[in-house]
Amino acid sequence: MNIFIPLPKEKRAIKEECRKQIFLAETQMENILKNQIVICAICDKTISGRFRSASRFKKGRSEVNLHPVHIDCVKENAKLTEVFGGDKVYYDLSSIDLLIMSGIVNHLTDLEKEGKLPDIPKETSSFDMPSPDTIGDPFYTMVEVIDGKMTGGVINQIHDDEQLIYLYVSENIALRSRKEGNRRGQLENYVVAGVSNNTMEQVLKSNKKIMVVMGIEGSKAIATAMTGAEIKDAIQPGEWLDNIIKLQNNRKN
Ligand SMILES: [Zn+2]
Repeated sequence: MNIFIPLPKEKRAIKEECRKQIFLAETQMENILKNQIVICAICDKTISGRFRSASRFKKGRSEVNLHPVHIDCVKENAKLTEVFGGDKVYYDLSSIDLLIMSGIVNHLTDLEKEGKLPDIPKETSSFDMPSPDTIGDPFYTMVEVIDGKMTGGVINQIHDDEQLIYLYVSENIALRSRKEGNRRGQLENYVVAGVSNNTMEQVLKSNKKIMVVMGIEGSKAIATAMTGAEIKDAIQPGEWLDNIIKLQNNRKN
């Protein structure tokens, strides 16, 4: 037989209560194991002798069940990405990890309530990777694509010991640069990608220099290295870069 003992949500929420429930469940498991043949729900083999309890979560469901497993069938200190990653229908976490997890969550909730939660770096959604699906407003760049997937690489070049990312003032100029690169056997894995408004805002705040390509003359790019702040000034209405952008985006080729 399999043993699954529900661990209700309200009991899970409080660490001490959770610990008590695990203890009670393990006592119950021990008693059943004395008299019956119990199967480990992870490896499907009989448990005889030592066991530990694991908590089983079903994907997309809120219930958790405690069940006995062989000592080696769940890891302590499991990497949560390994436990919860992948396409598994359910996950098994050791009860000790469950307690640690509940401890961390409660601690963070308490700190947040008390206004003591320090600023923890959060994933920011304001930086969208330039992509071939994005329409530049107006800037474009080139991103590396290998086997149909973006690698995260953006066209850049070392200039005065600094690695500068390239921004093109129009899609047309980016396309022409790429064509010119291809002619010389370069930029084979690069595709033209639009830079979103959000990303451009981040770029303009940056002190890092960026190579701004304003045009192509013959086979040469007309470009200048500028910081985000310099670009910001130069793209104000009527300023020199704004004029170039207007000119280049009206010019059909
Ligand atoms: Zn097992």
